[in-house]
Amino acid sequence: GKKAEKAIEESIKKVYEIDNKMSVFKEYSEISKINKHAGNLAQIVSKDTYYVIQKAIKYCSLSRGAFDITIGPIVGLWAIGKKGQQIPSSNEIKEKLKTVNYKDVVIDKNNSSIFLKNKKQEMDVGGIAKGYAADEVKNIMIKNGIKSAIINLGGNILVLGTKEDGTPWKVGIQNPIKTRGEFALTISVINKSVVTSGNYERYFEVEGKRFHHIINPSTGYPSESDIVSATIISDNSIDGDGLSTGVYIMGVKKAIKLIGEIEGVEAIFITRSRDVYVTSGMEGKF
Ligand code: AMP
Ligand code: MG
Repeated sequence: GKKAEKAIEESIKKVYEIDNKMSVFKEYSEISKINKHAGNLAQIVSKDTYYVIQKAIKYCSLSRGAFDITIGPIVGLWAIGKKGQQIPSSNEIKEKLKTVNYKDVVIDKNNSSIFLKNKKQEMDVGGIAKGYAADEVKNIMIKNGIKSAIINLGGNILVLGTKEDGTPWKVGIQNPIKTRGEFALTISVINKSVVTSGNYERYFEVEGKRFHHIINPSTGYPSESDIVSATIISDNSIDGDGLSTGVYIMGVKKAIKLIGEIEGVEAIFITRSRDVYVTSGMEGKF
């Protein structure tokens, strides 16, 4: 499109804006403020943050708490991919686990405010905000008259339209046991979001055991379900992102059932035993 450069500039600005509002690594972010005032004061937040939290809660409840945005204290404890990464003591995990419960997030539409009921509770929207950012970038592209684009936010792919020659975009799904860039399979898509959660992106290993960044809220430890890669194909990336993290933890059987019940959403799972499972709408399409 003629306005491609402008669209990209606007997009980068928007992604930074979202990061500044939602990152737990920035003490001035809206999410950090909610956490700081947990058990004390509700915080008025921007439309962006309100929307992400409200969508996140929907996926917490759909996944029956496998996805839980109050996982913050446990994520902080493990610090996976960060300087202080470590295997925490089981007592520490037990203690922090008491604070995890998305049902304690109080949202007030009238004031656009968010409140965590208990002190020490912490929200982490790291499992869903990237999807929102991808959707926002897509909207900026459309606003600038762009008909053909591929948006890649690392694990979150969103394709707009077809390739310039009119053929579908081809998206590769990373092979979880090979080096980055080697795909296990590809899918052809037009106007879709393709989001993958995997155990191979951020992790550390101790004595051959891998500790990755997707935490099972019922144990406080990295998920040990049979899934090692969960891909969600949907129209909006926020839905794909919220779902991918949750179903990863649920395991393949429950995941296939849940995704099968959601209209317009498909999934591909790769398991520990190197099998590939797909929802019925994906059969023959990869
Ligand atoms: P994703 O890459 O979208 O699967 O998101 C992983 C990120 O989500 C982690 O880095 C954490 O910030 C956060 N997270 C980890 N476990 C959970 C969970 N059970 N529920 C919600 N967010 C989580
Ligand atoms: Mg996610």
